[in-house]
Amino acid sequence: MIVHVTPRTEPVVIVGGGQSGLAAARAGLTAGLRPVVLHAGVEPVGSWPDYYDSLTLFSPARYSALPGLDFGGDPERYPSRDEVVAYLRRYAAGLDADVRTGVRVTAVRSRPDGGYLVHTDAGDELAAAGVVAASGSFGNPYLPVLPSQERYAGELCHVADYRRPDPYAGRRVVVVGAGNSAVQVAHELAGYADVTLATRAPVRFLPQRIRGRDLHHWLRVTGADLLPRPVLTRLVRHAAVLDTGIYRDAIAAGAPARRAMFTAFTDDGVVWSDGRTERVDAVVFATGYRPHLDYLAPLGTLDRGLPRQRAGISTTHPGLGYLGLEFQRSFSSNTLRGVGRDAAYVTAALAAHVSGRSRRRPAARRAAASGRP
Ligand SMILES: Cc1cc2nc3c(=O)[nH]c(=O)nc-3n(C[C@H](O)[C@H](O)[C@H](O)COP(=O)(O)OP(=O)(O)OC[C@H]3O[C@@H](n4cnc5c(N)ncnc54)[C@H](O)[C@@H]3O)c2cc1C
Repeated sequence: MIVHVTPRTEPVVIVGGGQSGLAAARAGLTAGLRPVVLHAGVEPVGSWPDYYDSLTLFSPARYSALPGLDFGGDPERYPSRDEVVAYLRRYAAGLDADVRTGVRVTAVRSRPDGGYLVHTDAGDELAAAGVVAASGSFGNPYLPVLPSQERYAGELCHVADYRRPDPYAGRRVVVVGAGNSAVQVAHELAGYADVTLATRAPVRFLPQRIRGRDLHHWLRVTGADLLPRPVLTRLVRHAAVLDTGIYRDAIAAGAPARRAMFTAFTDDGVVWSDGRTERVDAVVFATGYRPHLDYLAPLGTLDRGLPRQRAGISTTHPGLGYLGLEFQRSFSSNTLRGVGRDAAYVTAALAAHVSGRSRRRPAARRAAASGRP
C-alpha cells in the first residue's frame, strides 16, 4: 500500500516508540507538528520489556518521569522494569498522537523538495515533512572481537541477551565490562555461579546517596544533569557505577571477583593478562551499544554507523533529528528524566524547518509559474 499525504498535512515521522519516540510525539504536538510514530514492537514501550528481569531504575520515581505524567506512587522508590513498561503504556495511551505498532522502518530517503520518504517492512511508503530517529541502541549491541574469539566453544553472549541468573547456576562465568549493567549482572550471577568481572581498569563507584538524598537530587540542584559532555568530563574523568555500597563490598569480598581484562580466548576458556589460561563456561560481554540507525543509510548521513549531528539536529539533512543518543546534549539525554528536554529542542528545530518549507513552497510555485528561477 502506498500512502499519499498532501504536502500541507505531511506528518513528521518518528521512528521508534520508546520513551524517546513518545517524548518526541508529545513535544511535536506542542510545536504544532503532526507526529506519526512508527514502532517495530507490539507495544510502544521501547526496549524496556527486553531488559533483564531484576532491573530497577537507578533514579527514584520522582526523577524518572517524562514531561506531563508523574510516575505515581512513592516518589522515593526505585521503580522496577515492569513498572516502567506500565508507565510508558499509560504515557502512550494519554497521547493524542498517531502511534502505529508492528511497523519497522526499513529506509528513509530524501526528496528534492526537502521532505522525506519513509519505507516500512510492510511495503508502505510514507511522505514526511521531517523525521525523528528515536530507535534507541538496544537493537545494536556492541561486541568487541578478541584474539581467537572464533575458536571459543563455550557460551558467548552480549548482556542484551541476559534475562536471569538461574541458567548459569554452578557454571564458571566471566562478565566483561565496568559499567552499571556489567556490575549489576556480575553481582546477581555471583549468587548462582563462580563469577569474575573482567575490566580494563578498576571499577569506580558513585554513591547512590549523599547526605541522605539520592544522587539525582544533587544532579538536579547543582545543574550537573544538564552539563554538556566536554564540561562534565573535565569535572568527572571516569565513568562510574552507581552504588549504595553493596557492589563495592561484594567485589571486595570476591563475589564477583574482579580481574584485569583477559587478552585472548582459547578453545574452552580465556587467557588472563598474566598468561595463565582458564576454562570458562560462559562469557557475557556488557560492552555497550551503538545507535540503531541502519534505515538511515540511504541518506548517506552515517559516519561508521554514527549520525552526523549536533545536539540531536542533523548536520547533513534539514528536517532530520535524533533523540535518545548518549550525551546528545547532556548526561541525562539518554534517560527517562532527560529525554523530554531534548525532545522540545529537536522538535522546535523540526517545526522551523517544516514551516520554512511551507512558506517557501507557494513562493517556489509562483516563481515556476512566472518562469523566474
Ligand atoms: C539495561 C539498561 C538499563 C537502563 N536503566 C536506566 C535507568 O535506570 N534509568 C534511565 O533513565 N535510563 C536507563 N537506561 C537508558 C535508557 O533510558 C533506556 O535504554 C531506554 O530504553 C532508551 O529509550 P529509547 O526510547 O531511546 O530507546 P528504546 O527503549 O530502545 O526504544 C526504541 C524502540 O525503537 C524500536 N525500533 C528500532 N528500530 C526501529 C525501526 N527501524 N523501525 C521502527 N521501530 C524501531 C525498537 O523496537 C525499540 O523498542 C537503561 C538502559 C539499559 C540498556
